[in-house]
Amino acid sequence: MKLQNWRFHITGIVQGVGFRPTVYLLAREHHLGGWVNNTAQGVEIEIHGAEKDCAAFTHSLKNNPPALAKVDSFEVFPAPLRVYTEFTIRDSENRAEDFLPVSPDMAICPDCQRELFNPADRRYRYPFINCTHCGPRFSILRDIPYDRPNTSMAGFPLCPDCAAEYHDPGNRRFHAQPVACPVCGPQVWYEENELRLYEGAQALQAARSALREGKILAVKGLGGFHLACDAHNALAVQTLRERKHRTGKPFALMAFSPEIVRRYARLSPEELRLLSSPQAPIVLAETTHAGKKLAKITAPDQTRLGFMLAYTPLHLLLLEPEAGFPEALVMTSGNLSEEPLAYRDDEARQRLSSLADAFLMHNRPIYMRVDDSVVTVLREQPYLIRRARGYAPGQLRIPKTALPILGTGTQLKNTFCLARDRYAFVSHFIGDLENQETLDSFEQAVAHYEKLFRIHPRALACDMHPDYLATRYARARSQRESLPLIAVQHHHAHLAACLAENAWESSAPAIGLIFDGTGYGTDGSIWGGEVLVGGYQGFERRFHLLPVPLPGGDLAVRKPARTALSWLAAADIPAEEHQLPPFQALSKQERDAVTAQLQSRINAPETSSMGRLFDAVASILGLCHEISYEAQAAIALESAADPDEKGAYAILLRDNILDPRDMLRELTADLRRGVSVPRVAARFHNSIIQLSVQVCRSIREESGLRHVAISGGVWQNMRLMRAILPALEAENFIPLYHRALPTNDACVSLGQVMVALQALPEN
Ligand code: ZN
Ligand code: ZN
Ligand code: FE
Repeated sequence: MKLQNWRFHITGIVQGVGFRPTVYLLAREHHLGGWVNNTAQGVEIEIHGAEKDCAAFTHSLKNNPPALAKVDSFEVFPAPLRVYTEFTIRDSENRAEDFLPVSPDMAICPDCQRELFNPADRRYRYPFINCTHCGPRFSILRDIPYDRPNTSMAGFPLCPDCAAEYHDPGNRRFHAQPVACPVCGPQVWYEENELRLYEGAQALQAARSALREGKILAVKGLGGFHLACDAHNALAVQTLRERKHRTGKPFALMAFSPEIVRRYARLSPEELRLLSSPQAPIVLAETTHAGKKLAKITAPDQTRLGFMLAYTPLHLLLLEPEAGFPEALVMTSGNLSEEPLAYRDDEARQRLSSLADAFLMHNRPIYMRVDDSVVTVLREQPYLIRRARGYAPGQLRIPKTALPILGTGTQLKNTFCLARDRYAFVSHFIGDLENQETLDSFEQAVAHYEKLFRIHPRALACDMHPDYLATRYARARSQRESLPLIAVQHHHAHLAACLAENAWESSAPAIGLIFDGTGYGTDGSIWGGEVLVGGYQGFERRFHLLPVPLPGGDLAVRKPARTALSWLAAADIPAEEHQLPPFQALSKQERDAVTAQLQSRINAPETSSMGRLFDAVASILGLCHEISYEAQAAIALESAADPDEKGAYAILLRDNILDPRDMLRELTADLRRGVSVPRVAARFHNSIIQLSVQVCRSIREESGLRHVAISGGVWQNMRLMRAILPALEAENFIPLYHRALPTNDACVSLGQVMVALQALPEN
């Protein structure tokens, strides 16, 4: 029998996911000697043994990597013969310039869940049970390598039983850094008015009683605090809204099991899979009949509910089914509206004491706050609305080699992006950079990612908007550290992000259907209904929506009725004569102000925003005149649309303008003829699809381009998204859309990096 040595280089998320023990067990199973080691770029393995054993090992590892691992590349090559009599796990080295992807936090796995409820297990009902395949990762990590002293578990020395499991390569807790048990690990307690009243199991019972009584409970979870209450209790939910200053925005819900969620939300197989996945995001799904009642309380005017499963052992114990205990809890981020999520104990007590009646606390520190992710399903794949817990800081492979660079993102739904070599690390959702607290959390997170991923930026990219806080940060830092700074146009960044996510390597241009709320244009005006032709290197603004004034500026963003009056005026439709809903919705005084602003053009900036056109139509249909959260009017319009309606209105293309004024005339004529609101809403959506295909056709005629990148917040509208893909494909276009990042402004930081890399002289 001829012995051989094989070497493996494996890259991707391979640390903190049980990769080395899997390799170890597999090597022993196949009677191989050798070693496995974490290195700068991933995992390195050498095996020594018979050819057929080497081949069998390779086949198994390649086809059955550990569940949480994400392998980017798997290379095998022959190595010089060297005899190893046993297989060993070598200690990880930590060189200053090394970087390794970090695993996101993961929901409790089925094995741990079984142990949690097994009275014979030594971790029976222990709220911090975890293993190599599940539990906290990113949120408890202070530095790499991912070893216990570098996590917030550093303060909990292992007891002998846990240590034995931790050091046993055959145990499923081998090298699980957060491993813990009731003897050695973190503990829970219940407090009111900063008085610690109950510990352990009693604390959980007290928390459950508080919820049952309709109280509001602050719960310290995985990546921060939640505010929880009984989702079936209208009074409790209303109290929470008032205290949180959150009027209409839907609340996320949590349930113990998928079976319970199915009573309230209709789940497709793919939605069910996502809900129960290790990422355990909030999944938006259509309500059932029973869900309608729940929606009325927690998500007014919505046809969908956002549900997540109890994703930690603590949440499972908190939501354990019992007669008289609510099946669904509201689980909303522990903050006042607009502020970042609270994550430190003292900070939470200070900021949440006026919001919560009681606190369920624990003593495992959180290093990085991470919100819950929100997803929906598109073509059997997750389509992200908010990318945070479970997904971040997962790396993306980019189709370009990057010098160390930071893109600082936008003002709303901020994320930032650090890139190096062929990897981009797009941060978790940071929030709207409109107050000092959020800016602080942005700066903390930037510093943390730079440390974790060993990226010291040698260039910066930012939005063109001079007043965005993220832009100011980039400008100040570029001066302080003498770094080149490249300002990237907002919609160009959307286009570039979408291309990068679709592994677009070419320098050839593509068509970009960038339909968005607000972005600063190269001419200083507000853009947002943009059809671009371009790539990473540049773009042409081939078509854009007819600009109209926004009477009152930001006020018009909050009050779609104002934007509606502007569009009606632009189309010469007499709002007063026809007594259209936006006319009726505003007071005489406000209408006069709008008229004056439209005439004088004072405090009435022009915009080509597609998001504002959706706002205007929602108001014209009487669906929404004033919003209390972003995209509320567009969601109302989408929810109202009749799914079976096929009709559409024509939107004119002239020169480089998309002119919807004829469409508005037809649409209001329909309303006067008594065509129902759901049908008119559907016709409007269909018009946008028809228009999109029409502009692509027109661009193809002049250039031959067939690839169409779809990006911008408007494409969070699933009716549009589900219609545009087949419509483009039917005409032999190749649609490219976001697969890893949200289509909203959370993707912009990646696009900034891609465009800046092209512009920098080093590349
Ligand atoms: Zn587990
Ligand atoms: Zn222990
Ligand atoms: Fe945008």
